[in-house]
Amino acid sequence: MTASDTLPTTLGGPTLVQERRLVTSIPGPRSQQLLERKAAAVAAGVGHTAPIEAVAAGGGVIVDADGNSLIDLGSGIAVTTLGNAHPAVVEAVQAQVAQFTHTCFMVSPYESYVAVAEALNRVTPGDHVKKSALFNSGAEAVENAIKIARKATGKQAVVAFDHGYHGRTNLTMALTAKSMPYKSGFGPFAGEVYRAPMSYPYRDGLTGPEAAKKAISIIEKQVGADNLAAVIIEPIQGEGGFIVPAEGFLPAIVEWCRVNGVVFIADEIQTGFARTGEMFACDLFGVVPDLITTAKGIAGGLPLAAVTGRAEIMDAAHTGGLGGTYGGNPIACAAALAAIDAFENDGLIERAREVGTILTDRLTALQQSDPRIGDVRGHGGMIAAEFVDAETGEPDAALTAAVAKACIAEGVIVLTCGTYGNVIRFLPPLSIPDDLLHEGMDVVAAALAAA
Ligand SMILES: *Cc1c(COP(=O)(O)O)cnc(C)c1O
Repeated sequence: MTASDTLPTTLGGPTLVQERRLVTSIPGPRSQQLLERKAAAVAAGVGHTAPIEAVAAGGGVIVDADGNSLIDLGSGIAVTTLGNAHPAVVEAVQAQVAQFTHTCFMVSPYESYVAVAEALNRVTPGDHVKKSALFNSGAEAVENAIKIARKATGKQAVVAFDHGYHGRTNLTMALTAKSMPYKSGFGPFAGEVYRAPMSYPYRDGLTGPEAAKKAISIIEKQVGADNLAAVIIEPIQGEGGFIVPAEGFLPAIVEWCRVNGVVFIADEIQTGFARTGEMFACDLFGVVPDLITTAKGIAGGLPLAAVTGRAEIMDAAHTGGLGGTYGGNPIACAAALAAIDAFENDGLIERAREVGTILTDRLTALQQSDPRIGDVRGHGGMIAAEFVDAETGEPDAALTAAVAKACIAEGVIVLTCGTYGNVIRFLPPLSIPDDLLHEGMDVVAAALAAA
């Protein structure tokens, strides 16, 4: 069989045949050609995880140019939660692109931007009066949340946490904890950014209130509430290793912020929109942020991001102080309206919980017979395994990389993460069929056994 015999007969979306199918080794010859062109034409700083040329995606698979069909356990980094090329998103985008592609919302406003703001104000945690502003990327949303918090409080300092990830622009690099690869050599970084210890139950052994006390003490001693505009935290950390804070940690931090006039910003760019089995991860912990940043899953794969929060804080920035040429692009807004409708009405929260149960059951079963899996954690469609040396408990990045590489070679796309590079994170599209998810986990188990 040649590659051309097995090329997909559909363009993508949920109609793609839902199977893992390897007709060449990975990368196959066509993918190899693209990677050679990439190496010659694209800056070396832009890496890739799976050495393939993607030509179609949908359901739970990504098909490459050689006709291989790979199981997708990464959703393009937590973006295609609804599934790739979701029909309602495709329809909304096609209708909008034929109507108009851009006016710039700051020049000639249009309805879909306002409708996205209304939807975000409704679905985000808390029933206070909210307002939103739209941007292009997660990092841009984080930057704007900090701008707004500074203007609203008249203060400058910002606290972020160990293992935190907030983006790759200058201010968000400063907020991000990990040097390599995100920051190394790219300084100097934005000032007035301070770091507090995160609750990391597997490694710090502290209860939530104990971890919060430690963090608050450091914030009070090293920064001082009088200087502090905002605390920004991912309710479940993404790049940092899917670290779930111990119970009571987040509520204590939120309460301290409230008492001290500090804006509490939840960065839900990775955790938002049904991913964790709640619409937002803040709902898992019963906390209500003053501001919330969203992106990734928001628009079914189209680039869109937002800051949503208390109206009086959001309105602190003067007219003209927020915005951008493309922010809230009409095509992205049309996609977001279709996506948010699906998140609210298509049972995706329940589906995330089902996916979470399958992933957790599979990984904890593996852990019982393999002490190299130190920890299994996460919620809903956001589950991770932390790999360690079985004797010492030290992070094992080499094992993690070997397992991930073997999975990809066998047609299962997995992503690694973690400050110590020793976590595999599972973020499948929620449209993945159960049997394919199980097959993906079979491949992970076999890769681990062989490593
Ligand atoms: C991905 C991510 C960002 C940055 O989003 P970009 O769209 O890549 O700029 C910020 N915060 C968190 C928690 C993220 O996962």
